Amino acid sequence: MLMEEARNKIVEFGKRMSADGLAPGTAGNISIYDPETGYMAISPSGVPYDKTLPEDVVILDLDGNVIDGDKKPSSEHGLHAVFYRTDPEARAVVHNHSMYCTILACMGEPLRSVHYALAEAQCSEIPLVPYHTFGTPELADAAAEALKKKGHGLILQNHGMCAYGPTIESAYGLALTMEWCAQVQWHCMAAGKMNVLTDEQMEVAMEHYKTYGQKKSDGSHTGGYSVV
Ligand code: 13P
Ligand code: ZN
Repeated sequence: MLMEEARNKIVEFGKRMSADGLAPGTAGNISIYDPETGYMAISPSGVPYDKTLPEDVVILDLDGNVIDGDKKPSSEHGLHAVFYRTDPEARAVVHNHSMYCTILACMGEPLRSVHYALAEAQCSEIPLVPYHTFGTPELADAAAEALKKKGHGLILQNHGMCAYGPTIESAYGLALTMEWCAQVQWHCMAAGKMNVLTDEQMEVAMEHYKTYGQKKSDGSHTGGYSVV
């Protein structure tokens, strides 16, 4: 099966995203990119995560042409392609409607550096992408514009969030961290008091994460607190 490992991971992380409460029902989608072929494996549209099989995952090129698979691909395949086109290091994208990221999205708020853990996203603020209908080229274009800023995450206004990384594990870990940070921010906003860290303080936290925890077999460090 074409991109078998990627298809298996998309099934595995889809189940996990659902079980972790980040994706109500069939909301959200996951993709993995192979730079050698230029193909992206993406979850099928509107299929419950616990019913998705590896063969349901669709293989597309970045222009949206179906290479393999019988199911209709995620309606957000154009949005996912934007990440792979923008950052040559991007290998996986997670999109979901997790509760606290979505609350900020519906308040029209970016995710700010209220807690240093946001440094995992390699930036001090996750930008807010202006609202456009889900699954449209307009939404993908607006995301491309926001990705010109530093960082590995987006808040989609009145919609949800996106996270990406060099592996599905890092993208999913960042989705968990963003949700936790959004929850902290929401509670601070509700309490009417919020101390936002400076860009300089966040840069220092990013440096510290480079050596945080145990060294992995490839010599790198986890770069964050999420256990994936
Ligand atoms: P799909 O089921 O088509 O992936 O769409 C879900 C979603 O979250 C749209 O933004
Ligand atoms: Zn969505």
